[in-house]
Amino acid sequence: MKILSGNEVSKVRRQKISEEVQQLKSKKGVHPGLAVVLVGEDPASQVYVRNKGKACEQVGIQSYEYKMSADTSANDLKLLIEKLNNDDRVHGILVQLPLPKHLNSDEVLSWINPRKDPDALTVENMGLCWKGIARVTPCTPSGVMKILEHYKISVEGKYAVVIGRSNIVGKPMAHLLQEANATVTICHSRTNNLQEYTQRADIVVVAAGKPLMLGREDFKSGAVVVDVGIHRIEVNGQSKLCGDVRFDELDGWVNAATPVPGGVGPMTITMLLENTLKLASL
Ligand code: NAD
Repeated sequence: MKILSGNEVSKVRRQKISEEVQQLKSKKGVHPGLAVVLVGEDPASQVYVRNKGKACEQVGIQSYEYKMSADTSANDLKLLIEKLNNDDRVHGILVQLPLPKHLNSDEVLSWINPRKDPDALTVENMGLCWKGIARVTPCTPSGVMKILEHYKISVEGKYAVVIGRSNIVGKPMAHLLQEANATVTICHSRTNNLQEYTQRADIVVVAAGKPLMLGREDFKSGAVVVDVGIHRIEVNGQSKLCGDVRFDELDGWVNAATPVPGGVGPMTITMLLENTLKLASL
């Protein structure tokens, strides 16, 4: 089984991003900047925000972090986003999700200037993406496409199943696969007989958010399995990361699979850097 390493793909792409950031700075005097807004103290979100900051630093993108307390009002958050919309040093604004319950994430995302939306989550960018004329495409699904591209896994004419229909992963994932000429089925929590779909698929992208949900018997021999899920679980009293797929069962059965950690996760951050650079170049 080929291991589809997001770390490896990221290394190659981040090197290229770093060179392009330098060029943009020297030729056009533009220093790409990403603002990351964290509301509350969710530990996983704190780790993601820290990793995003480090990744920016690594490629020469300026990162600006805004940490707000969990009881921040919608109005205060809106004021911050408006300030960032008008800040010329900032080319991308990322509001770390999930937000505390009293804040409506759709409403909050609608405050971001679509020209500064590196995860393509505003309605305008979702529409452009759907129309096939995207400024940038959402980070996680784009990262999956880049992994497939890097490992020369052809998508055209293949039967792909995406498990999950969220706006941030499942829906755009299905769209990008379809744009790359796969025949796509979206499965979700109300799908009957999920296995009937996954066992026929050449490519399965799993984004159900359910730890270790699928294993060897769910895939056809020779399939390509991409695991988007990321969870922290306890095994024999030790904390470890896992995905939605029981990765250990796949060797000798499927053709290729992404591990967790080291698969889709690093690519999400890499695409965030790439999209911020793209927005800065526009
Ligand atoms: P979500 O909870 O918004 O969506 C989950 C989707 O899975 C839903 O559409 C639901 O219908 C479907 N689903 C749930 N249970 C199912 C089941 N038993 N059978 C079939 N479908 C089922 O989650 P999300 O934001 O799309 O994220 C999915 C997972 O990916 C989470 O584990 C999340 O942490 C992870 N994630 C990882 C990255 C990364 O960079 N690796 C990025 C984003 C999300």
